[in-house]
Amino acid sequence: MKPFTYAAPKSLQEAHHVLAQAKGPGDIRALVGGSDLVDQMRVNRRTPSIVLDIKRIPEMKRLEWVPGDGLHVGAAVCCTDTAHFPAVVQHYGSIHESCQLVGSTQIQNRASMAGNIGNSAPSGDTIPGLVTFGAKVLLTSPRGSREVLLEEFFTGPGQNVCAPDEIIQEVIVPPPPPNSSGHYLRFIPRNEMDIAVAGVGCMIALDSRTNRCATARIALASVAPTPVRAKAAEAVLEGKQITAALIAEAGEKAVEAARPISDVRGTAEYRRELVKVLTRRTLRMCLASLAQKVD
Ligand SMILES: Cc1cc2nc3c(=O)[nH]c(=O)nc-3n(C[C@H](O)[C@H](O)[C@H](O)COP(=O)(O)OP(=O)(O)OC[C@H]3O[C@@H](n4cnc5c(N)ncnc54)[C@H](O)[C@@H]3O)c2cc1C
Repeated sequence: MKPFTYAAPKSLQEAHHVLAQAKGPGDIRALVGGSDLVDQMRVNRRTPSIVLDIKRIPEMKRLEWVPGDGLHVGAAVCCTDTAHFPAVVQHYGSIHESCQLVGSTQIQNRASMAGNIGNSAPSGDTIPGLVTFGAKVLLTSPRGSREVLLEEFFTGPGQNVCAPDEIIQEVIVPPPPPNSSGHYLRFIPRNEMDIAVAGVGCMIALDSRTNRCATARIALASVAPTPVRAKAAEAVLEGKQITAALIAEAGEKAVEAARPISDVRGTAEYRRELVKVLTRRTLRMCLASLAQKVD
């Protein structure tokens, strides 16, 4: 491992002081659980000169539900705490599910959603669910702060829009639409502790008067260089009474957003098939949660 300086600031101001020393992209890396970063540094895939441990900064530990504004998850909040936070359990099924899929219990007790996002792997399990609920990340730097829509955050495998002196402060998820439900499913060859061959997050909101689909959001993992939204599949559903035929059509359309590669875990063709199947299943899960029968 290349030598590095370890910094563990106790305030945002101190963190900004460290970030101001960034010499270029990847020169400073934030550390939360270290479940990605430490191994990547061990094999020299990431070679920061400063590792910025953000776990002692109070703002990074924020975990709060603000009525009318939504969910705020500080960057240093672990997946276990996020998954079991009452507002997450109540409003955001896919976030509750995906935080409990990351690695094992031990990993979830250390790893964060911000780390999953900051690592920017196309396979990040927490990302599709967050995207379907319209999540944003609040970025902070010595120059100020800005919000970025999560679906616009990723620029390529392991790459994102963060400037060298910028880190995620928190993940913000707007309140869910009325009468909505979200679920996430992934396929892995083993029962657990594996990287998704494909993952699909769906969120459906139904018009409570007509039962037609008011909003549909579908996001895919592991089938493109970045997580992607399946907008053509969403359009199939929106404004309509959801039927079995429509669910099947949405599954077919979701594949249009996928640009999968073939690798040791599966061929591109296999991944396309998984997108179809997982889209259909997550949609049915959403409708079941909304007690909506599908004919
Ligand atoms: C055994 C094992 C199993 C795993 N299983 C899964 C799995 O099933 N699904 C899955 O998606 N992942 C899995 N992972 C990967 C990893 O656990 C997750 O990506 C996790 O969410 C990373 O969180 P962390 O807090 O440990 O991140 P860290 O390792 O601390 O950081 C990860 C990256 O994000 C950056 N980062 C961290 N915080 C910030 C911030 N505030 N702002 C900007 N960048 C930041 C870091 O600099 C680093 O590049 C697994 C890892 C292991 C070791």
